[in-house]
Amino acid sequence: MATLELDSITKTFQDGDEEIVAVDDVSLSIDDGEFLVVVGPSGCGKSTTLRMVAGLETITSGTLSIDNRVVNDVKSQDRDIAMVFQSYALYPHMSVRQNMSFGLEESTDLPDDEINRMVSETGEMLGISNLLDRKPSDLSGGQQQRVALGRAIVRDPEVFLMDEPLSNLDAKLRAEMRTELQRLQNDLGVTTVYVTHDQTEAMTMGDRIAILDGGELQQVATPLECYHEPTNQFVASFLGEPSMNFFDVTLEGDRLVGEVFEYSIDESVQSDLGGVTDLRLGIRPEAVELVDEGGEHAFETTVDVVEPMGDENTVYLHFDPDADPETAATLVATIDGFNRVSEGDTVTARVPEDAIHVFDRATGEALH
Ligand code: ATP
Repeated sequence: MATLELDSITKTFQDGDEEIVAVDDVSLSIDDGEFLVVVGPSGCGKSTTLRMVAGLETITSGTLSIDNRVVNDVKSQDRDIAMVFQSYALYPHMSVRQNMSFGLEESTDLPDDEINRMVSETGEMLGISNLLDRKPSDLSGGQQQRVALGRAIVRDPEVFLMDEPLSNLDAKLRAEMRTELQRLQNDLGVTTVYVTHDQTEAMTMGDRIAILDGGELQQVATPLECYHEPTNQFVASFLGEPSMNFFDVTLEGDRLVGEVFEYSIDESVQSDLGGVTDLRLGIRPEAVELVDEGGEHAFETTVDVVEPMGDENTVYLHFDPDADPETAATLVATIDGFNRVSEGDTVTARVPEDAIHVFDRATGEALH
């Protein structure tokens, strides 16, 4: 097992005359045995970051250390890492057993029967013992992914690197494998960096998550910290489904004033805002309550669309019943599935003061 340290890592690619900064000055420390999920939208630099750690991509500047040893110039095969890809990357002409033993045969002097024992043991751990003599083409996608995992596990590496390993699986299998991967990682205690664009995987699997956008690290913290205390508007809107609602507000004296929302704020919130007056209010859909009567922070809205999800309903609310639904400001709310509201209903909604987030409108930085 090992620690992993990225210190001011930058990667640029040259595309003709244009320089593409794929990863921009990223610093990260990953603890021994930690499960770190790197997440972000397409093109944010996740795979490039992982490929630099793997030694598959050179590092333009910065220092990469595994267990306090600088490995910038160490070849991939000498880094003691094992990688699992989205594409599985199994050798089609080899049996499952051969796929799993190949790496060990190449990189160690272990006797055949020892390698066989290790493969069998790993096969058992992953529930694929009965598949060891098959070819990859005779396996389902889920089984192939287990073999790819098995191949990584059997090498007993210091670090696992996983690049969207579950994204080719159907939703049910993906959910199953999520749990299984977590259990395996817990049992094996191997430091793991896991890349995904899927926020559910990030929220459920990571000890911590690192959120990238445009090659820059936005936040690294536990999933709940990122969700409840996002550092900026990007993180706030990236995590959470449906996404956080945003409304422009202005600080006027001790009040946040917008077209619909108005909150008086106490001194501690005012000091958080640091004199910035052009602000953006952030409201998570689950922070919106439907109430029977008006009162503080309550307002009338019209139900535009209801999406029943079973245990919950996603409700799209409009503030002005006469407004054009295409362009009207919308507040998305997540409410209990038993709460029956219908399209066209007038309902009273409320957003409690302690549930609001406030961002600097110009920079997106979270202020409160
Ligand atoms: P995705 O989720 O779509 O795989 P990603 O977050 O993994 O995206 P990267 O593949 O790391 O993103 O790419 C980051 C940026 O670097 C993108 O703008 C991409 O086009 C660019 N890039 C990646 N590899 C190369 C390359 N070999 N040459 C030029 N540009 C590249």
